[in-house]
Amino acid sequence: MRNSSMLKRSDALVEARRCLGCFESPCTQACPAHVDIPGFIKRLREDNIEGAGDIIYVSCPLSYVCGLACPTPDLCEGACTLNKLGQTPIRIGALQAYVANNYEFPENINDNGKRKAVAVIGAGPSGLGCAIQLRRMGFEVEVFEKSNSIGGLVDRVIPSHRLPSSVIIRDVNRLKEAGIKFHLRVEIDEENAKILLDDFDAIFIGTGLSSDKEYWVEGMENGVEGILSALDYLEHARKYEEGVADLPQLGNQVIVIGGGNVALDAAILAKRLGSEQVIVLYRRSKDEMPGWESEYLEAASLGVEFRWLSSVNAVTIEKKKLQSVTVQRMKFTESQKGGRRWVEPDLEVPIYQFPCDSLIYALGQELDSAIADYLGIKTLDKQKIQVDPSSFQTSVPKIFAAGEAVSGGSTIVNSMSQGMIAGRSIGRWLLEG
Ligand code: SF4
Repeated sequence: MRNSSMLKRSDALVEARRCLGCFESPCTQACPAHVDIPGFIKRLREDNIEGAGDIIYVSCPLSYVCGLACPTPDLCEGACTLNKLGQTPIRIGALQAYVANNYEFPENINDNGKRKAVAVIGAGPSGLGCAIQLRRMGFEVEVFEKSNSIGGLVDRVIPSHRLPSSVIIRDVNRLKEAGIKFHLRVEIDEENAKILLDDFDAIFIGTGLSSDKEYWVEGMENGVEGILSALDYLEHARKYEEGVADLPQLGNQVIVIGGGNVALDAAILAKRLGSEQVIVLYRRSKDEMPGWESEYLEAASLGVEFRWLSSVNAVTIEKKKLQSVTVQRMKFTESQKGGRRWVEPDLEVPIYQFPCDSLIYALGQELDSAIADYLGIKTLDKQKIQVDPSSFQTSVPKIFAAGEAVSGGSTIVNSMSQGMIAGRSIGRWLLEG
């Protein structure tokens, strides 16, 4: 668990007084949103919530969400000067969440004198970052989201004990009060894409990576009890934690495949929700694991086991129910792919069977490239949307894109910040046009 305990006023003031107000502020440099951390902590120390909130929200419009859900030990808190002095770093995430929970002041919306409107596709972090940046610049903004909630994967799969819905709602309400209009359950098909192209002066794509990569190994069948994607499991578990669904039944022996944060979150939740043995299998070694160190440490402290250089190459199913997985040892090769050492099965090590009740796979998500096709923009092998890296403009001048649909994977705060930068770029393009 990272930042989830909410500070009381007295604790927040005491914590703020520990801050050294470093001139170079390595904490701010490590923050993808570049929040002026010593600046807001100084206002907080003076018990000036308005001043502290003004500083945070200008750089981070999802301040409450980021305060609780950011991997702060790997970002600002990891860079805090107090670490080098042998002291506990400032609890920056918890202080930010405290300010966000108590800040009641609305967004500052400028009037640019133009009646131009922007359609934002996707209500995840990049879409929301872009939308508020454009509203601040005085443009009309309408957000189109295919699901029935605002926040994207933030609202679907981050465990509720870390990020309750009430926190997301508070940040989202600020955006609604700023005049952003939301249209939920709207699929951007060919017809809707044409309507957006005709009706709006610019379009921003912030859909993220919304499709699960398919998983198939020897012995697999469709509709098997006990084999599920990590996103489906996390969505169900979040609903359970929020009291609107039954406990997901995984059984006592659970295998999780993958080394990213989604895999680690699934393993953590499986353990927290009662499974006795939870084992993460990762094809590479700990050094290559893309998940955050803070997530790994939380999982390990709960008793989640890790088996490196291990992969499932077959499953055994009886009567549509998973019985066991066959584990294959992997080994590194000389070649590299995507900057990482490549692996292949180590045929000298015998495979072994591991009886289990559930197999959760977290192999990442991929771009739903149909929207790009409908809007007529170029992609890189249908994996990412192609943009100019400085302006986030796509191959069609009035369409921009940012976030995971462009980067291929990111954090909430990175996607939100990219969306804000793209929003400024769209605003400049509209004002000059
Ligand atoms: Fe305060 Fe730590 Fe940032 Fe220095 S690095 S300004 S001590 S939070």
